[in-house]
Amino acid sequence: MLIKPAFPPEIAARLRKNVKGALLTDMANRGRYATDASIYQQFPLAVFIPEDAEDLKTALAVAAEFAIPVLPRGGGTSQCGQTTGAALVIDNSHAFRHILEIDLKRAEVEVEPGLVLDHLNAKLKTSGLWFPVDVSTGAQATIGGMAGNNSCGSRSIAYGNMVHNVIGIEAWLANGKLGQFGPYAQSSGVAKELGIFVKGLAEQLQPEIEANWPKVLRRVAGYNLDVFHPQSELPYTNDGSVNLAHLLVGSEGTLAYFKSLRLKLAPLPQHKVLGVINFTSFYRAMESAQHLVKLGPSAVELVDRTMIDLARSNPSFKQVIETALVDSQAETPEAILLVEFSGESQAPLLAQLKSLQDLMGDLGLANTVVPMIDLGLQKNLWEVRKAGLNIMMSLKGDGKPVSFIEDCAVPLEHLADYTQALTEVFTKHGSRGTWYAHASVGTLHVRPILDMRRDGAQKMRAVAEEAAELVRRYKGAYSGEHGDGLCRGEWISWQFGPKITAALGAIKTAFDPHHLFNPGKIIDPPKMDEQILFRYPPNYAIIPLKPALDWSAWNVQNNPVTEAISAPGTGGDPALGLAKAIEMCNNNGHCRKFDAEVMCPSYRVTRDEKHLTRGRANTLRLAMSGQLEQDEISLSDPLASDAVKEVMDLCVSCKACRRECPTGVDMAKMKIEFLQRYKKRVGHSVRDLLVAYLPRYAPVISAIPGLPALLNLRNQIPFIAKLQQWLTGISAARSLPVWSAKTLWKNQAILQKKYTHSPDALLQGDGKGVVLFADTFNAYFENENLQAAIRLLETAGYRIHIPQPTKAARAKQAGCGKQFCCGRTYLAAGMVDEAKEQLSALLTHLHPYAERGIAIVGLEPSCLFTLKDEALVMGFGEQAITVSQQAQLLETFLVAELKAGRCHFNLQTAIKPVLVHGHCHQKAFAELTPTLELLKQIPNANPQLIESSCCGMAGSFGYEVEHITVSKKMAELTLLPAIRQVPNAWIVADGTSCRHQIQDGVQREAVHIARILAAHL
Ligand SMILES: Cc1cc2nc3c(=O)[nH]c(=O)nc-3n(C[C@H](O)[C@H](O)[C@H](O)COP(=O)(O)OP(=O)(O)OC[C@H]3O[C@@H](n4cnc5c(N)ncnc54)[C@H](O)[C@@H]3O)c2cc1C
Ligand code: SF4
Ligand code: SF4
Repeated sequence: MLIKPAFPPEIAARLRKNVKGALLTDMANRGRYATDASIYQQFPLAVFIPEDAEDLKTALAVAAEFAIPVLPRGGGTSQCGQTTGAALVIDNSHAFRHILEIDLKRAEVEVEPGLVLDHLNAKLKTSGLWFPVDVSTGAQATIGGMAGNNSCGSRSIAYGNMVHNVIGIEAWLANGKLGQFGPYAQSSGVAKELGIFVKGLAEQLQPEIEANWPKVLRRVAGYNLDVFHPQSELPYTNDGSVNLAHLLVGSEGTLAYFKSLRLKLAPLPQHKVLGVINFTSFYRAMESAQHLVKLGPSAVELVDRTMIDLARSNPSFKQVIETALVDSQAETPEAILLVEFSGESQAPLLAQLKSLQDLMGDLGLANTVVPMIDLGLQKNLWEVRKAGLNIMMSLKGDGKPVSFIEDCAVPLEHLADYTQALTEVFTKHGSRGTWYAHASVGTLHVRPILDMRRDGAQKMRAVAEEAAELVRRYKGAYSGEHGDGLCRGEWISWQFGPKITAALGAIKTAFDPHHLFNPGKIIDPPKMDEQILFRYPPNYAIIPLKPALDWSAWNVQNNPVTEAISAPGTGGDPALGLAKAIEMCNNNGHCRKFDAEVMCPSYRVTRDEKHLTRGRANTLRLAMSGQLEQDEISLSDPLASDAVKEVMDLCVSCKACRRECPTGVDMAKMKIEFLQRYKKRVGHSVRDLLVAYLPRYAPVISAIPGLPALLNLRNQIPFIAKLQQWLTGISAARSLPVWSAKTLWKNQAILQKKYTHSPDALLQGDGKGVVLFADTFNAYFENENLQAAIRLLETAGYRIHIPQPTKAARAKQAGCGKQFCCGRTYLAAGMVDEAKEQLSALLTHLHPYAERGIAIVGLEPSCLFTLKDEALVMGFGEQAITVSQQAQLLETFLVAELKAGRCHFNLQTAIKPVLVHGHCHQKAFAELTPTLELLKQIPNANPQLIESSCCGMAGSFGYEVEHITVSKKMAELTLLPAIRQVPNAWIVADGTSCRHQIQDGVQREAVHIARILAAHL
């Protein structure tokens, strides 16, 4: 399939002996570093994760001695394949992420190359400064990678590209010397020598440079040979001086290895206003850009009709996008332009906004501007723009929006004609493009949908050639934002001509005589459509397998023009959709974020690519296409292999990726597939059985007088805990949930009389009937939660049905235990068949209630969302769909009823602050808003949501001896520190295991929302 030369073992041994960091030479680790966000894949020879600068120096020296190519890597989010290569890939992002110096007076900062942009800006925030190259991948992109690519943000019209903001680079050269690249006039040593050499070339080629160099701001191709005679509309430096660091910016790791970078900072704008222009013609929108930039905006960003429609059809975004429309009742505009003005005070910005309105009037487009002053509204609108792209990227089927001409830059006066002509090119080739992004600088992103497994390569070449012709016609730059890499390297000579291309080669040789730094990029590049370099080369094939869950929704093909999807199951996937679901990961690296939301907790604590959603998806893809170790298991049952086990080990099934990954990679479900096969291979442990069968034995334990109390002694007697750890692998350092002495089930007389109703009986009279699902955890360990929920519902006037299997049902239905169970614990142990049996019994019972529109209310998010999620892919058909539509958390139900005026609570005033921690599954289903809304019913309660990722307990994960440390680290990231800060607060957490983690971590009781509400009745 692919050429995968390996790292010579003797050199590996030598390197390992001399470094502290990890040298990874196995196929899975190499495979995880074989891709970036492009269509390409090249296996590294090995991956090195240095621990410190000495490690890096040693690795570079060994590589130089043995002529091993070297490829520096940051977040690996490049779109052109520049971060892939058969080299020793060195990951900067693990150790080199420090700010070395902040000089507020000079507004400068010195950083290591692996520092992530957003982390830098978070640190700078209080200083009133920021680093303004605001790339969309700011939460993942490293400063080294940004400099490597000469990245550009949405606001480049105001701040320039990376090259305009880097003022110094200290870099390792191929000969092992460290060069200080800064102002040419003050340079010395090796940097000066190289500078003189490049100056000589530039002087020799001045006429060619002037003739061939694109004059636009957005040109990132090749090396910046024009530093000595700047050609861009924005000069490299304010005073016209030459800075040798600019030679290295945009060099894509091919000239030198950055050790540290000195950056220029800008004042953080205190005020921003937005004018959103609505256009009924896309052409007019493009035509207007040239006039708009004269008003001095900090951004002019495009959202086209396709994206507006996508947002309008999505309930989460509809309201926000409509704030940007002049008339939300009228037809959707063909395009909107977001014109942002920013500055130190608001008054001048408002004047600029007024000028914008006047300008549109002068252009014959009066009353087309929606002024947006409110910062919250502006922020929401920017989010929608990003989300629109995400929806586009989540297209199912083998045709994908492919990035290869998406950053051609043309002068603004030609933007309208260029976009129109390129749209015609797409049509000619049976595709279509959705346009978005940087209208201010003539760089519009557009990705035609191509099927790279079939005829994509040919179409890509044809479209690229025609696009290139257009770029030439309009005197633009073919490579305007994302770099050259494998995708655009061949167009460098097309852009600059042979003499300049030869000069670029000479620069490469002067810096790196043996061409060991990232070979094949910028200099001697391959053809963009060299299929052997593709992630999906012609001989890519999936090992057939039958998954445990139904993945047919992914097993589809799409129409590149209409984006219509074929029927589920028709995609031709030998793994019945599972492989295609895995392949949805396009390596954009969004899961490497640390700031908001949840994804990906295991990466947040380990910073290890293998414990990241992307690393997992890549491992699964490589395993299922036979690209990992060629042992018997990997080839016969790839999902059950040890390589997959290694990456799945720390996945806590939080489901965050399902929602937060732009393409909806659902790793929690994939983990079920893995567990099912892996456990079949290695067998279930005692601990697996204890966890899985809890719903079965809990009723037995509970029924034996004194036994719950006896079992609870385990938490008091360390010896028992230690013995249990030895026998089962459940950590002695954890307390276990305490068995309730009283359970709901004990008083069968009341249950039968008061809480058992047929659907019709439940709806009698005022129709206020509800099913309350008593899950195993709340029923046997925290009965007080169920009692609180009952009290609340009854106070609000509801009749309650609590599902309980009848003897007859138990006799009839396989899997129907003494009490109902959603199957969650079985899924956690990979027992899909047993989970199906449990669910089947529960769904059979619930379906008649759901069919009549009766709400099915649950307390434990992981159980309730099993009904809304996994149950839908387990072959239950319409029954599961109907139940899932009625299944809701207690708070979701009550908030809806309150809003409909069907109930009312008289609650007492809160006397303590209220902190809320959301369960991951609540967050994954965007179900936290009702929690906060319901808590606001308590007078004076001002519930504060803790911005936290997963609590780390994740069902049984946090109890497991081998996982307890990682589990605690997850909790300590943000959740526990936030709780410690408010010592007297109520802590509200719906998840049983979240409450447990909080109790263990800060020795404070967290309560289910039902309890805090009941306490205020
Ligand atoms: C969804 C999406 C949106 C994007 N939006 C933007 C955008 O708005 N603007 C934009 O410009 N780009 C954008 N990109 C492209 C990419 O995210 C940026 O170029 C980003 O700056 C790359 O950072 P990184 O840390 O991932 O770099 P990597 O991909 O890891 O590396 C980039 C290059 O820099 C080199 N490099 C890395 N570290 C060093 C070092 N220490 N020394 C020398 N060379 C080094 C690498 O070898 C490689 O050639 C986007 C990508 C995606 C997937
Ligand atoms: S898993 Fe999702 S977020 Fe992560 S790289 Fe893949 S597509 Fe992007
Ligand atoms: S389910 Fe959670 S832990 Fe697992 S990959 Fe997704 S975000 Fe990461």
